[in-house]
Amino acid sequence: MSTEAVLTDTYELRDTLLDLETRISELLRIPRRPIRVRLVRESAGVAKTVLCAPPRVPTVYLSPDMLHRSVLAHELTHCFVPTRWLFLAEGLATWVATEVGGEGCADLYFASSRLEEVLVRPWSVRAPTVAELVDASTDAPDKLDPQRFPLIQTRLAFAVAGSFCGFWQGRRPQLATLAASDQARGPRDILAEATGMGLDDLEQEWSRWLHEESTA
Ligand SMILES: [Zn+2]
Repeated sequence: MSTEAVLTDTYELRDTLLDLETRISELLRIPRRPIRVRLVRESAGVAKTVLCAPPRVPTVYLSPDMLHRSVLAHELTHCFVPTRWLFLAEGLATWVATEVGGEGCADLYFASSRLEEVLVRPWSVRAPTVAELVDASTDAPDKLDPQRFPLIQTRLAFAVAGSFCGFWQGRRPQLATLAASDQARGPRDILAEATGMGLDDLEQEWSRWLHEESTA
């Protein structure tokens, strides 16, 4: 569980949401859209987003214990990039949460400030490769299943997706726009169009950077 402060004041919560929306919009280069946030006061551990195509309004459901900046940033990003392809959806949401959440990787229950720090550390299990994760969808979530979130394998899978998608979004800013707008094609085609490269090359370049970062 994140150790950062929970937002309890309604005005502070509203201001935080507005600030996050602005920053996410800039980071992803996607215009803001109406988003509904509902508090589920009687529950705990609830952080989920019910997506829908415009003009209908997506809804984020949160229990009071989940009102952290990084969790809000993660769920709001799902509203900006409503795709069933989980590698892109969870990857961008995880990356954005570390960029604008101000809580490092706390929402993944890692103490590190950056996803890359998590990934270069030795763990009892191997982190999945991009190729193992890229085809996950809401119909077949596999290793990116949020239901299996407390498991180290799942949290590492989110960290891989987050680091990879953030690396490429930073270099090819059209990635999020394509992921948000193209519901017909799969993630491999969307990544290829955004970058002009195939998945093997994308993974190699990202992986090289990851290990250079860790030894720099
Ligand atoms: Zn998510």
